[in-house]
Parts: sequence; structure tokens; C-alpha cells
Amino acid sequence: MIINNPACIICHSTKTMPILNVPSPVNGSLAYTLYQCAACDSRFFDPKEHEIDIRTANEKFSLAEPYIKVAFTQNPYWQHQVQVITALHQGKIRSILDCGCRTGDFLMHWPMNIARTGIEVVDDVAVVARSRGLNVINTPLEESHLELQYDVVSCYAILEHLTKPEQVLNALANSVAPSGILALMVPSHESVKARLQGPSWHQYYPPFHLGFFSRRYLDEFMKKRDFEMVSTTFTSGGMFNPFSRIPLAAKAWSKLMFLFDRFSPTRYTPLFDHMYIYYRKIDNAQT
Ligand SMILES: [Zn+2]
Repeated sequence: MIINNPACIICHSTKTMPILNVPSPVNGSLAYTLYQCAACDSRFFDPKEHEIDIRTANEKFSLAEPYIKVAFTQNPYWQHQVQVITALHQGKIRSILDCGCRTGDFLMHWPMNIARTGIEVVDDVAVVARSRGLNVINTPLEESHLELQYDVVSCYAILEHLTKPEQVLNALANSVAPSGILALMVPSHESVKARLQGPSWHQYYPPFHLGFFSRRYLDEFMKKRDFEMVSTTFTSGGMFNPFSRIPLAAKAWSKLMFLFDRFSPTRYTPLFDHMYIYYRKIDNAQT
């Protein structure tokens, strides 16, 4: 019998086992244990394995990102997300909530007549989003008391950072209006890329990245909350660039990868590791 392993931070089962040791980028001499959960197939790092203030570490990490100081410009990546969600929604979208909105880049791609709200924990980043005319809730996701419902709720590359991802996902599900769309992007440890890279997979990035949802568990979790999965795609996320040291070639490659991510038939299979899942909330009043 397995004892003393931490409970799964995603489903809370104690049927967990250590599978890898991964060095932390915070301090090269620290390593975190990666656990596999036998109950939900998710993987996770135990946030308490080392005494690091994870929220402070995350904030420092956010503020070091170059996008903080960059002026807003339209971006084909976010334009595509707007198109995908608009097509999936099927009705009139009047409001959107973006969880972990950073400087509001995604929200800025939606028309101004849509009520655009973001949640951003880092004060200085929230200030930038607010200066762009967006409504910003400046609290940690875990402590955001969401009372309204929105036609679209999005959460890109955020759930993996959280110590209580399931609690937040539940709150997000409750914030979606009937027939509304929940759009998630999470790293997939079940992808071919992650499996091939093993311990060197760049998404194993403790303690910034803590939880890795299995696709099965996500679908089951959302189904219990009256959602149906309406689309799942996998992309490279533009992370892989063999020409990163040669500017012109790097630019050409990244354009090529963008087109590949958008049009390749492989986007429906878990070849690459950026998993986009879209769920629609079933409108029980209409069924
Ligand atoms: Zn689990």
C-alpha cells in the first residue's frame, strides 16, 4: 500500500505515486517530485514540498515578462481564439470573463460593446489592463468571489499555476451563463511531445507549474456540472523553434508553425502539448 504521498491537488485522491524528480528553475539545487494520480490520471507537484512562497515567486515571474511594457496590437493568435469561441457559442455574446487576463490582450480583441472583465492577481499588470478600459478584478483567482455569469469564460495557461485548481475550475464553471462557453488552455502531459521529452518537458516547471489535468478528468468534471465538450485541439504553442538564434529564419519558422497549429489535421490528436478545450453549458431551460 502507498502511504505518505501527498493527496492529488486536482481530485484530492490519496492514490498517488512519485514518478519523476524535476529541478526547479527557482533554485537549481532544489528538485520537486512529480506525482501521478491513479484516480484521475492527472499529474502534480506538491506545493508544500519546499518552503517557497509560490504566489510571490509567480508575481516576480509575471513582472519579468516582456509583455508588460508592450503596447497593445492585434495578434493573430488571439484573433483566432475569438473566431473559434464565437463560432462555438451559437448565440449572441454580450459578456466575457478572462481569468488570469494579464494586461488584457485577449479581452482587447473582443468588440467594445461586449462587457469585458478580467481577473489579474498582479497589481502592476492589472493597472495596465485597466488603463485599456477593461473591467479588472485585482484578486487571486482562488479568492475571487464571482457572483455574475458570463456568456464566455476563458482561462488560458493559468490552471497549471494554481495550488487549488479544482476549486477554481468549479468557480469558473458556475460563472458561465446557460449556453455559454468555457475556453481552457492547459499543458497536456498526455501528449506525444510530453511523453517523448519525459523529465525535460518544459511544462514541468515547479513550483510555477503545479497541476496537469488529464483530459478524461476534465471532461468528467465538466460533465458533472452540465457542460458538453464541443472542441479539443492541440498545438505546439510556438515554443519549438530550431532557428531561434537566426532572426529571419526564426520569424519564418514561427509563421510556419502558426499555420501548422491552425490548419494541420494533427491538431485534433494529442501530438503537441498545448491543449485547448471548449465546453458549452447545457441550457436546462431549453432541453
Ligand atoms: Zn487525482
